Amino acid sequence: MALRMFNTLGREIKEIVPLEKGRIKMYVCGPTVYRYAHIGNLRTYLMEDILRRVLEMDGYEVTYVMNITDVGHLSDDADEGEDKMLKGAREQGLSVREIAEFYAKIFFEDLEALNIIKPTITCKATEHIQDMIDLIKRIEENGYTYFSGGNLYFDISKFPDYGKLALLDLSELKAGSRIAIDENKKNPHDFVLWFTRSKFEHQTMLWDSPWGKGYPGWHIECSAMSMKYLGEQFDIHCGGIDLIPVHHTNEIAQSEAATGKKWVKYWIHGEFLNTPKGKMSKSEGNFHTLKDLMEKGYEPLDYRYFCLLGHYRSQLQFSLESLDSARNARKNLCLRIALLKQEEGNNSGTGDVEEVDYYRLFKSHAYDDLNMPQCLSDLWNLVKDTTLSSSLKLKVIGKMDTVLGLNLEKAEIDTDIDDEIKASIERREQARKNRDFTLADSIRDELKQLGIILEDTPDGVRWRKI
Ligand SMILES: [Zn+2]
Repeated sequence: MALRMFNTLGREIKEIVPLEKGRIKMYVCGPTVYRYAHIGNLRTYLMEDILRRVLEMDGYEVTYVMNITDVGHLSDDADEGEDKMLKGAREQGLSVREIAEFYAKIFFEDLEALNIIKPTITCKATEHIQDMIDLIKRIEENGYTYFSGGNLYFDISKFPDYGKLALLDLSELKAGSRIAIDENKKNPHDFVLWFTRSKFEHQTMLWDSPWGKGYPGWHIECSAMSMKYLGEQFDIHCGGIDLIPVHHTNEIAQSEAATGKKWVKYWIHGEFLNTPKGKMSKSEGNFHTLKDLMEKGYEPLDYRYFCLLGHYRSQLQFSLESLDSARNARKNLCLRIALLKQEEGNNSGTGDVEEVDYYRLFKSHAYDDLNMPQCLSDLWNLVKDTTLSSSLKLKVIGKMDTVLGLNLEKAEIDTDIDDEIKASIERREQARKNRDFTLADSIRDELKQLGIILEDTPDGVRWRKI
């Protein structure tokens, strides 16, 4: 079965055919490490993790590269505004490097908590300045640049395919652009490859270059680092949809200008997380971090489960109420799986996982542009099935979880109850033996108030937390 994905380049669902048999090389735009990532950012990394896991289920060896932007990224995607790193440092009284290290560490802790598999390679912009300079030199040699007002610009008029990814109508944008005009630019969409004249005060990180002492434009780092680790052509490039019109458009222009070859085959983009106040963003003040959610008592995997409920190309509406529903559903799922484990010893039925219809459906949904909401319902249908043995079900669940990443194999019934509750359960058992059902029922109701549910089975009483 072949994996089919929506390619932003061309706007159609296409079968993934790798450049090299059995291998996929993918690049993911990583964080700018000047503040906590919000859960809308993390939704994109979850989508990318699911894609990687589905590719691995399909038998590919995946090389997954993610960058860390730790220099010179501007406040928005246009070449305007204040340097995010400097702004963060100033606000928090730390050096730019300290800020970057602190937030990069937290970012990777978030990924781990969400059970996102580590990138094969993580690369920092500040450690690849020479690679960027070398790439800019090639772009310059090929005639795509001009020097103006102290900075080296990419000239988009030399690259006729500039608008191909974002389907930009350049004539329209040129006239009515919202981007403030930089007088040094020939075209509003030209962008800086190398700055020697900083717009920012107190620029601390500067490097020597053929164009003078300065620092790279943001976009060049992704082209330079992806090509260094994946080659001049590779399979998949991912990111949030907000990166399409400027960052990814510029990445394509400068990469293909340097090599003269088509750069990336498949562009895959994740949609926004929305809140009742609109797109989650710091400036809108509707901003949650994973840490905030954990402080409110949620587990990181509750958020992972929540994200699986929406298709990655649809906007997902976030509220604490909807996260509550996801948490309850996940708890319920884990409880059912834990009960299956208890039964497993009693029925060691055999069967081939690949032959189980639920698993076949699950794979077909995963390979259909990562249809995770359907995959989750395939899992639920399997769990509720009454015809398969518990042991076979558990094997299939294990396979499905290599994609879902919900740590389902670790699901267990919470045995952490205090002695008082244990004593109540024993008292109720005794009352039942004495056929004092009134007392037994009243103890059962008391325990329910405490969040403990009792189930009478032929093997005796079982309990679980609500
Ligand atoms: Zn990037």
